[in-house]
Amino acid sequence: MAVDSTNPNKTKTISLSDLMKENESVQTESLPIKEKSVSSLSLPELHEKKKENKFYLPVLRLNDKTVWDSKLLKDRKHFTDEVATKTCLSNCNDVAGLQSACCKLDPNDLEHVLGPIDEDWITRTVKWFNKKGITITRHDLVIDYDEGKILGESFFNDHPVFKKKDTYPILRIQTDGPRFACKFLNINSGKCTIYSIRPQMCRGYYCQFVKTNFLVKLKNGPNSPGEWTAIDLHIERKQKTEENNNDVD
Ligand code: SF4
Ligand code: SF4
Repeated sequence: MAVDSTNPNKTKTISLSDLMKENESVQTESLPIKEKSVSSLSLPELHEKKKENKFYLPVLRLNDKTVWDSKLLKDRKHFTDEVATKTCLSNCNDVAGLQSACCKLDPNDLEHVLGPIDEDWITRTVKWFNKKGITITRHDLVIDYDEGKILGESFFNDHPVFKKKDTYPILRIQTDGPRFACKFLNINSGKCTIYSIRPQMCRGYYCQFVKTNFLVKLKNGPNSPGEWTAIDLHIERKQKTEENNNDVD
């Protein structure tokens, strides 16, 4: 039985199937519009979403091959130390004023963690500090599984990467506003405070913006001898094919 809306005191008889249909339509109308997951949003949608927040942080997608157009070889600068410094410390990911994004973690758009770090580096670095009279232990340099799992639950929306043992050890982090920065990043200058002894993981890292816009040297860093290389060869090849096709047309 249900209440007759034209006369609240009177009851009307309604079949069970009609009642269920009525309930269904009320439930469907009142359901909130399901939000798209962050990973399914386009880059402009992500930027709009971020702008709704008090702290606006651009969404970067440091490692996402789909968001960067690859520059042609002839238009690429060599990624020398000088160019790298200018890029990474003031125009990181083509965002004016942004510094060192790959040394930071964004809890809402986590793109990578700062690990795994090799054990040799940890041993060498503990010794390096100790020789300078600074007493540190492994725990001062890196986060291991037991601690990282709790950090992931508490600060990174329980991201699954923190639950995988092979993610660790990761470099210890500090808070930097809404992001978390590597412990060794000077968050004012954007510079690495242990640049000369930074781990191999950091030496060999190029974000997708760098890969698609510059020519780099893969072996021993920017100013080492050797050939300048376009890392994003797949996209370069695709462009060449398109150019060739255009020539034929
Ligand atoms: S490598 Fe890429 S993400 Fe890292 S600091 Fe340079 S421009 Fe920014
Ligand atoms: S060690 Fe240096 S280069 Fe590596 S993540 Fe930390 S600040 Fe960045």
